[in-house]
Amino acid sequence: MTAGTETVAALFERVLGGAPAGFWRAPGRVNLIGEHTDYNDGFVLPFAIDRATTVALSPRRDDRIRLVSTFDETLVESDLGAVTSRAFSGWSAYPLGVAWAIGEHAEGALRHGFDVAVDSDVPVGAGLSSSAAIEMAVAVALNDLWGLGLGRTELIRIGQRAENIAVGAPTGIMDQSASVFGQRDAAVFLDCRSLAVEQVPLGFDAAGLVLLVVDTKVEHAHATGGYRDRREACERGAAAMGVPALRDLTVDDLPRAMVLLDDVTFRRVRHVVTEDARVLESVAALRVGDLARFGELMAASHVSMRDDFEISVPQLDAVVATAQAAGAVGARMTGGGFGGCAIALVAADEAESLANEVLRVFADRGWHEPVPFTVRPSDGARAL
Ligand code: ADP
Ligand code: MG
Repeated sequence: MTAGTETVAALFERVLGGAPAGFWRAPGRVNLIGEHTDYNDGFVLPFAIDRATTVALSPRRDDRIRLVSTFDETLVESDLGAVTSRAFSGWSAYPLGVAWAIGEHAEGALRHGFDVAVDSDVPVGAGLSSSAAIEMAVAVALNDLWGLGLGRTELIRIGQRAENIAVGAPTGIMDQSASVFGQRDAAVFLDCRSLAVEQVPLGFDAAGLVLLVVDTKVEHAHATGGYRDRREACERGAAAMGVPALRDLTVDDLPRAMVLLDDVTFRRVRHVVTEDARVLESVAALRVGDLARFGELMAASHVSMRDDFEISVPQLDAVVATAQAAGAVGARMTGGGFGGCAIALVAADEAESLANEVLRVFADRGWHEPVPFTVRPSDGARAL
């Protein structure tokens, strides 16, 4: 048995019976830079983290599907016939949604049902995409098991369809792409228009750096409304500027945008346009090992989200300020905003003292205790 599969193997044996046919694993992700650029057809730079979902899976001779997770050991039962209806609820919507999306992509691909046990050490709902991790672990498992021969891009699409339609979450393609294309000590540079993917070496290992993630535990009541509002501002800005998406503007267009757009729309547009430029410059800097420049771009990205896009909160700003004062290479909020996580690129042997300093700052201000932890860029979805 491969290291790290004991928990899921034991759950499989206890609830489903016997030993699984195999184990598959897919990681969560964190976005290094490129925020609110995805739905503007722009660029993002996430990496797959060293926290993942592991599934133990076996084919069945009949059409039943049986699922269990360490998060909830109640057995969930379904069958191939039900998977055509898309009527899923609870956590099993993720794996059943993947089965549905595979069937939609290639009718009859799943010849029989299957038994699956799931375990994960990706924190749920912390913005690290435990959802993409479970989707892609199940997708690669079913692909291997039934010899479907689906390529990585098809698997990513299947994961996204499962999340968009079976689960009902309107998410882009970044999370699944990072989970599948992740590589040790590399980031996944994704063009959200062409869906072209390139792995960019990060050199964190050689430089002795880790990424400290701080989950602020802030969940803003109007996060959903705020997200919708920002999307609308971007659409408005693109329409007024006469382009299909903000991706089609560059910083040279900003003077004209300033004249044409109202102040708020202009600042939303400026964030997206400059953020796309920062992602491209980050990739260039990382390719030549210029981590200091990358750190500056992280800082500029945070300022842009705070002042132009207005999606930061005091807790996120405090993590960034604390990290910068402690000499971090770079720090910024990550994810959709209005709460969630901030990240700091720091020397591995300084991560713990920075985490303690952040805890102290939050305690001093009477804020909810945050959860700091380090992540390293790691390999993507695979069979074990
Ligand atoms: P995030 O992706 O940021 O962690 P989401 O709300 O998108 O948050 O996805 C979290 C959901 O994914 C959980 O509520 C659960 O339904 C499902 N999920 C993730 N990992 C597991 C797991 N190991 N077992 C069961 N369900 C899981
Ligand atoms: Mg998610």
